[in-house]
Amino acid sequence: MDNCLFCRIAKGEIPSTKVYEDETVLAFRDISPAAPEHVLIIPKAHYDNVLKLDDDALLAKMFAAARTVAKTVGVSENGFRLVINTGRDGGQTVEHLHMHLLGARELGWPPG
Ligand code: 5GP
Ligand code: ZN
Repeated sequence: MDNCLFCRIAKGEIPSTKVYEDETVLAFRDISPAAPEHVLIIPKAHYDNVLKLDDDALLAKMFAAARTVAKTVGVSENGFRLVINTGRDGGQTVEHLHMHLLGARELGWPPG
């Protein structure tokens, strides 16, 4: 999608700080981190959100990438949180499926 922010990041048209990349998945640092480590994991292909996803194998690839990212950024020992905000009530602001990996501090629960 030409006017989608994360599609443009995936294509390299908008710069990002990459943490992990393979053929189908890209992970990069969130521009406005909500935790000391905050990485976004996206499929390179465009899906508005998890409800629109028609390829569940892609979710497995995103989780596998998250595991690698957790080790790369050094949160695999103390733990981390994976979040997929979906739709209005889920607080999704960018309509390209993405998973947040948050860590390197104790995260509160439940979320606000
Ligand atoms: P959402 O609220 O949709 O779950 O998450 C979108 C995330 O994208 C937010 O955490 C926001 O800070 C991040 N974000 C928005 N624009 C950019 C950008 O241009 N670059 C990067 N790296 N992150 C962005
Ligand atoms: Zn997109």
